[in-house]
Amino acid sequence: MSFDLIIHDACLPDGQRGVDIACAQGRIQAVAPGITAAAGRVIDAGGRLVSPPFVDAHFHLDSTLSLGLPRLNQSGTLLEGIALWGELKPTLTREAVVERALRYCDLAVAQGLLAIRSHVDVCDPRLLAVEALLEVRECVRPWIDLQLVAFPQDGYLRAPGAAANLERALDMGVDVVGGIPHFERTMADGAESVRALCAIAARRGLMVDMHCDESDDPHSRHIETLAAETQRLGLAGRVAGSHLTSMHSMDNYYVSKLLPLMAEAGVAAIANPLINITLQGRHDTYPKRRGMTRVPELRQAGVTVAFGHDCVMDPWYPLGGADMLDVAHMGLHVGMMTSREGMRFCFDAVTTNAARILGLAEYGLSPGCHADMVLLDAADPIEAIRLRAARLAVVRRGTVIAESPPRHTRLHLPGRPAAVAQAGYAPP
Ligand SMILES: [Zn+2]
Repeated sequence: MSFDLIIHDACLPDGQRGVDIACAQGRIQAVAPGITAAAGRVIDAGGRLVSPPFVDAHFHLDSTLSLGLPRLNQSGTLLEGIALWGELKPTLTREAVVERALRYCDLAVAQGLLAIRSHVDVCDPRLLAVEALLEVRECVRPWIDLQLVAFPQDGYLRAPGAAANLERALDMGVDVVGGIPHFERTMADGAESVRALCAIAARRGLMVDMHCDESDDPHSRHIETLAAETQRLGLAGRVAGSHLTSMHSMDNYYVSKLLPLMAEAGVAAIANPLINITLQGRHDTYPKRRGMTRVPELRQAGVTVAFGHDCVMDPWYPLGGADMLDVAHMGLHVGMMTSREGMRFCFDAVTTNAARILGLAEYGLSPGCHADMVLLDAADPIEAIRLRAARLAVVRRGTVIAESPPRHTRLHLPGRPAAVAQAGYAPP
């Protein structure tokens, strides 16, 4: 058999070393040491890490790269971000949203980020962002799996017309049912919105991903209703709670009941470390809460946990660069997951766990999977996080679609080496 691409001498995320990966017809055909066949392109990984592509489980592609439009977020809070987005929305054009989203996707490809779940605001009656992102989804399909969530940013019950707009967006082809129960006017409305949205998902056979309890209020417990509805409607494995920051502040006894409910219901959790650490705790003096949900405890309870980037240069977050290793790095710190096992998990949170939540088919590095992968300038997943390693090559369906040089610095110091390569500092 002739191959389109062979990567020699790779290290895999599971620790296998000296492995060759052969690709043809867009799929991985063989993963084994010592593959000697010819190929259209041959890459020597030199023992470096080859990973399945990064997956962002939570993003907002309709607002990305809009930083400063029409003004900056002065308070840094979630609520001013929502208000600011409300000011920007009426001035949006489809062309501008498409252009910014496509520019972001270019950046994503450069960073080996080849699958994104993006929420799209459905509260603008024009559904202009929905149209724009549906167009983008088709445009980037050859290189990015883009999954869209119908997100009623101003409240499913609270915003006039939101319920009808959400159904229209789903009719137009948006993939997943979203929600924002903590932003409804009352706790009762929040719970009611969760029930109504889960019923829509059950009726249409769709997945659910809600912004859920994104606050410091320990009494914001919509995740309980989300888990109970998931169980009642048989939606296990299709539902995710995003943010869940109120869990950070909840009473420990209550959480000891909640965690097994989530695990039994089959609800996944998506934390957004960069955003949670900056948006939550804003009303605290000192000590300031971190806001990120209880990631180690959720894992311990058997809940699938992934990390999302959430925002890049928009009303909620002024930084970011489509780098899921940056996200993993922050998640590791905020969750104090510095054990080898904990750091290793943080890599899964931006690759395999996120892929599972998105329901990506044929994702991974086994024969038969799509030939999608990233060659990183790192010895293993922990090193990749430490370095936020350069993406030496990004492969989609067996073709190299992006390449970056390794990061080397020339030194001009008497008696010291002429160059420094960060990756060369890996522990033996
Ligand atoms: Zn979000």
